[in-house]
Amino acid sequence: MAPATDDVIASLEALRAEVEACRLCELHATRTRAVPGEGGPGSDLMFVGEAPGYHEDQQGRPFVGQAGKLLEQLLASIGLTREQVFIANVLKSRPPNNRDPRPEEIAACQPYLWRQIALIKPKVICTLGNHATKLLTGDPAGITRVHGRPQATAISGHSLYLYPIFHPAAALYTPAMLTTLKEDFLRLPELLAQAAPAEGIFTGAGAAATADAAEVAPPAAGDSPPAASAAAPATPPAKPEQLGLF
Ligand code: URA
Repeated sequence: MAPATDDVIASLEALRAEVEACRLCELHATRTRAVPGEGGPGSDLMFVGEAPGYHEDQQGRPFVGQAGKLLEQLLASIGLTREQVFIANVLKSRPPNNRDPRPEEIAACQPYLWRQIALIKPKVICTLGNHATKLLTGDPAGITRVHGRPQATAISGHSLYLYPIFHPAAALYTPAMLTTLKEDFLRLPELLAQAAPAEGIFTGAGAAATADAAEVAPPAAGDSPPAASAAAPATPPAKPEQLGLF
């Protein structure tokens, strides 16, 4: 983990304050606290979950319930702590009764995630479960099909690997999924040891984007995707390249 510059730390703090005051969607009315995300600002590894649950909403911190305990155990299995990674969600506010995120909520919230990625510049983003995976890959393929397979992409001009894995909350109740999640997790050190994916192998719009965090486009009216499963990012990831790394 490289030390983050003072500028990056200040920008992440400003982003946190913005999220805490955000009223871009209706979820602000029902949340207890917004959950901007947390972790090392210069982390090589970032996790993106779906949305805060009850405990996260109470504490304003991501993954602090049972799923968070499992995530911490998985991190320990590869010698990492949660302070050494950055943990965020697609939605920064809890949907009532943990219902699925709605397309308009994803559309309103996703620019915060693109800005976090542009500031942190992780080498690997683990997308946890279907919602994060579909948003970041820009592909409706479900997690059961794509888990454990790294994809090279670029987000806001930054080249990285997406690494979809099962959501820890789902794995808590399905032993076979937990086994697969543990196996996929154990491949992370190998992926982190790879050089960042080469620029120029991407074909999507994100490949051309050179915007740093400050330049990331704000949510535009009409930018919202037709379906939650194929939500188009404000600064879309380049079309990912499926890699034969494992
Ligand atoms: N599930 C998520 O997707 N995110 C959290 O922060 C907690 C549980």
